[in-house]
Amino acid sequence: MIQQNIRDIRSALGETKLIVVSKFRSVEELRKVYECGEREFAENRVQEILKKKDLLPGDIRWHLIGHLQTNKVKQVLPYVDMIHSADRLKLLDIIEKEAAALNKIVQVLLQVHVSLDESKFGFQQSELLNLARDMAFHQYNYIRFCGIMTMTTLGATTERIHLEFSQTDDLFHLLKPLMPNPDIFKELSMGMSGDYKFALEHGATMVRIGSLIFD
Ligand SMILES: *Cc1c(COP(=O)(O)O)cnc(C)c1O
Repeated sequence: MIQQNIRDIRSALGETKLIVVSKFRSVEELRKVYECGEREFAENRVQEILKKKDLLPGDIRWHLIGHLQTNKVKQVLPYVDMIHSADRLKLLDIIEKEAAALNKIVQVLLQVHVSLDESKFGFQQSELLNLARDMAFHQYNYIRFCGIMTMTTLGATTERIHLEFSQTDDLFHLLKPLMPNPDIFKELSMGMSGDYKFALEHGATMVRIGSLIFD
């Protein structure tokens, strides 16, 4: 079943990368996904990456997609390939500091808040524009800014989903030329099980899918 689900999703994706959201799933389930050839896995908690990485093959690339507490940064940096959920300046500063201590370049996506949900984390669009304009001043040497990430409003209408993805895509194109290295600022991480097909229409380069694969 997992195999068929992945095949169905992949046939819709084209060039867009599939990030398998493995949160809440057992190591056995992840192994099945691995055997289908998938190598990009995502967790929303640091502890889950630390636990699962030791029980699974070493060529898996781990993505962190959940809110990251500053006191967990140091623990996860050695094992994480990309952080999708950089959602505040304070966190960027800690990532920079810990990455410098490790002498490791860390790939980061800036999470933007376009949804109507109060509880969701992320920068406002204006904050990201300001950040991009001030990049030279901030001096991030160990963070590689690779793009942006977003999540749509829970239970949004189709119309609202299109609006949020299109706003995110517009923002992405505004930010890109302002970034210190526009060539590597190329990822648009958006789309989950329920809305990934819409995300593809708006230029998603990465979709993060869990339930559609495992359920
Ligand atoms: C859980 C989660 C997903 C995947 O959600 P599904 O609906 O299971 O595909 C994607 N992105 C984030 C940030 C998540 O927390």
